[in-house]
Amino acid sequence: MGVKLRLRLLASDEDSAWDAARAVFARADEIDFALSDYRVDGELKALERSSGPFRASADLYGALELSLDVAAKTEGAFDPTVGPIVKLWRDARRDGRRPDPGEIAKARSRIDRTAVRLSGPDERTVHLARADLSFDFGGIGKGIALDAAAQILRSRGIDVFLLEFGGEILVGDPPSGKDGWVVDLGDGEKTRLSNEALSTSGDAEQFVVLDGVRYSHVIDPRNGEPLSDGVRAIVRARSSAEADALSTALSVIGAERFFDVLARFPGVSARIETGSERHRVESVGFLSAIQRTE
Ligand code: ADP
Ligand code: MG
Repeated sequence: MGVKLRLRLLASDEDSAWDAARAVFARADEIDFALSDYRVDGELKALERSSGPFRASADLYGALELSLDVAAKTEGAFDPTVGPIVKLWRDARRDGRRPDPGEIAKARSRIDRTAVRLSGPDERTVHLARADLSFDFGGIGKGIALDAAAQILRSRGIDVFLLEFGGEILVGDPPSGKDGWVVDLGDGEKTRLSNEALSTSGDAEQFVVLDGVRYSHVIDPRNGEPLSDGVRAIVRARSSAEADALSTALSVIGAERFFDVLARFPGVSARIETGSERHRVESVGFLSAIQRTE
């Protein structure tokens, strides 16, 4: 997935720590094989080429199911079929130019989650009702990999851990004597996490400036344009996949529909900051877990 996966864990001895770490990295590779849109030999490419029912791995099937669920609950702000537009803007970033309106319109017409038909988790068959779909799990894949990593660690009796994958954080139990893993949120704020995930979207790293406008790598599927107003979303949730997808989605949703959308995700708390004033909207659960550091 092109970003660093870091882990801190407490195991009974060094050998089992290394074993567990190796198992986590191997699992992340497997997930990358299933979900990556870069790997021409990967499963996602095979799905896109398929005509007729495609029997998916549990990883790919699960990612589709979860993504489509988040897509429905976020009114399409998160959409796994956003691939054509993401690729268009990826090229624009490389070439230093805006795509032309015709290209955007064409790519936008290929965003269509209603064309993805899922059989159910037993059969795991995917049927694509149109041949020109292109998937992108860039906004959820890191979270999926972290949830899988946590499962591996717990199955080995490792409950104390902190995992970080390109902006996604997932922690288990805190080290003994501590009441949480302390995470610095910047701006003189910190929070403590225990058996939960934190996802920050709109980090300063992935963007491009074209004609003086700063474009994010997050796209609003409804108009095919990248976000440009420097929005930042932070989400805490039990599942890292959910936090990951929702932080991307809330950036798109913005302040106005923030609470309506968040209400569809029980147990999840969040904040978004918008505009140059960094205007804040946040849920009570999020605010109450913040501590000032200065
Ligand atoms: P951030 O950390 O800024 O949220 P993520 O890495 O979680 O970023 O997600 C951004 C990636 O998700 C993009 O690089 C792209 O691959 C994909 N993506 C962009 N816009 C959307 C969208 N509206 N819905 C789903 N995936 C998206
Ligand atoms: Mg995300």
